[in-house]
Amino acid sequence: MRIVLLGAPGSGKGTQAQRLMKEKNIPHISTGDMLRSAVKSATALGIEAKKIMESGKLVSDDLMIGLIEERLLEKDTECGFILDGFPRTTKQAKDLQVLLETIDKPLDSAVLMNVNLEILMKRLVGRRTCSITGKLLNIYFSSEKELEDCINAGGELLRRKDDNEETIRNRLQVYQDQTEPLVSYYQAKKQLKKINAEGAMDEVYQRLTDIL
Ligand code: AMP
Repeated sequence: MRIVLLGAPGSGKGTQAQRLMKEKNIPHISTGDMLRSAVKSATALGIEAKKIMESGKLVSDDLMIGLIEERLLEKDTECGFILDGFPRTTKQAKDLQVLLETIDKPLDSAVLMNVNLEILMKRLVGRRTCSITGKLLNIYFSSEKELEDCINAGGELLRRKDDNEETIRNRLQVYQDQTEPLVSYYQAKKQLKKINAEGAMDEVYQRLTDIL
């Protein structure tokens, strides 16, 4: 299975990709996670990406394509991969296609995860990570027990730096301007599949596996 997950920030790409990775045993490749890890270890890429990410804008296509090319050439992608957060521009999509043709691993499909704007805002504004378990939580959607479990265990509910309201607005605008055109791009190639990504995680996962 070689797929791209498309969708606005907060549409649940990361959450669904994590589960798909575990069940299908193929790597979940998130360019956002790769960049956050580069920022944490203060590599040259991380230093360059930090401010851009904090503003909600996009890191340059050239840097991103170099990063993904290196990753897709690793051995664990032989049985497939789930791309999350890449491609994000038409240039990235075109370069990805050329790369995948060159290595003879064409995409099976691009899945668009549809979520309405109001829910997206709540998912992003409310998103937290437990500092102890790394579990993804949400102050609006997680149960009180899940949130308290983290606090009672001595943990903190951490917020991603780019999950503040101003940056969220920028990220959603950038999505609309630069990434949404990929829906037509993959539709024209007859590779697009769409799912309703609202509702409980398990329901969305079921829709995703049904369509794949
Ligand atoms: P994400 O975790 O996918 O929401 O990504 C977080 C941030 O990383 C984005 O807001 C961008 O600044 C940057 N980023 C991640 N993937 C890409 C990409 N494919 N192209 C450009 N910037 C990216």
